[in-house]
Amino acid sequence: MTKPFKTLDDIGEVAGRRVLVREDLNVPMADGRVTDDTRLRATLATVTELADKGAIVLVLAHFGRPKGQPSAEFSLEQIVAPYADVLGRPVRFIDWEGAEGAVAALSAGDIAVLENTRFFGGEEKNDPAVVARFAALGDLYVNDAFSAAHRAHASTEGLARALPAFAGRAMEAELDALEKALGKPEHPVAAVVGGAKVSTKLDVLKHLVGKVDHLIIGGGMANTFLAARGVDVGKSLCEHDLASVADEIMAAADAARCTVHLPYDVVVAKEFRADPPTRTVNVHEVAADEMILDVGPAAVESLADVLKNCRTLVWNGPMGAFETPPFDTATVALARTAAALTQDGSLVSVAGGGDTVAALNQAGVGDQFTFVSTAGGAFLEWMEGRELPGVAALTR
Ligand code: ADP
Ligand code: MG
Repeated sequence: MTKPFKTLDDIGEVAGRRVLVREDLNVPMADGRVTDDTRLRATLATVTELADKGAIVLVLAHFGRPKGQPSAEFSLEQIVAPYADVLGRPVRFIDWEGAEGAVAALSAGDIAVLENTRFFGGEEKNDPAVVARFAALGDLYVNDAFSAAHRAHASTEGLARALPAFAGRAMEAELDALEKALGKPEHPVAAVVGGAKVSTKLDVLKHLVGKVDHLIIGGGMANTFLAARGVDVGKSLCEHDLASVADEIMAAADAARCTVHLPYDVVVAKEFRADPPTRTVNVHEVAADEMILDVGPAAVESLADVLKNCRTLVWNGPMGAFETPPFDTATVALARTAAALTQDGSLVSVAGGGDTVAALNQAGVGDQFTFVSTAGGAFLEWMEGRELPGVAALTR
């Protein structure tokens, strides 16, 4: 299958050539240590493949929000040692000052991390002067950072137009998975959209009703939809002012022949804390002093049946307040169903979102979905149907 973008398979001879590789090295740190190296590991395939082919690998990345001001706090120098551990090979560090000379001194197969791209104010403005400054250091450009692709920055978008540009292996895997999930999916397609609020996912919902056959709404946002239908949701998290928007989304779904699934039973409590007294009730039986904190077991069972009849699933947002037991029950049960169907080969499942990834890991199925995106903002913008500038620049 030909892809709408070039990959490392198309890059040709790289031995001795300088390849600027945009990665996401923006890892969380505490007390000078990397607390989660997921992002560092995600770069392995691309960086080692290029180095093994004899490229001079120059990793470009941002770190934090230095707002155009160089500082030790936001220097990428501090991640060089942990990064070398993850790669299992030496990694050099190159400051912007004298970068040309330092790059010229590298040999085939060397790997170096360049200083924080955001030390230039023009990085986030996609300033042509900054693009030129980066481009002068390399012969080829590889973008491997899907998570930064929703921003048109010098290192994500500008460079793709300045140098021959290719998708790295992690970018390629992400784009392939997203294409299978919403680009050209096998129908029927189900979307699970949960989480706290409708207001943060309006554009996601509006886009999905035109794309999927089943829209499963859970989490706090289901309360807004239930309230719009005249259900008394008591003290639940609910955006009452969005009732008409919820109605519009349901009407758009009807017009597009998309079935919207709202929970018909729910788990409620009077207090939001771990293991409070709970009741499982029909949505019409929520008392004035109760909160809906999870989808009920009958709804979960019927949603599992929906998934069994689907070929594709895209999931963003937990079904309940999953951080607080027992309100992770519906999320965990539905995640395990989706994982089992995926492992059986009957379902392509793609999930993303910060809390969603945490919830899937909590359910022990983070590695049993077809693809789990850790890209956060870029994943959500893709779910909204937006063109991501970093991806668009590669597909030109
Ligand atoms: P993601 O990060 O995956 O995009 P969100 O940030 O939109 O997900 O939503 C996750 C949050 O939604 C979690 O903190 C969870 O506790 C909260 N949530 C889910 N259901 C409810 C509910 N019924 N009431 C209150 N909060 C809820
Ligand atoms: Mg979140």
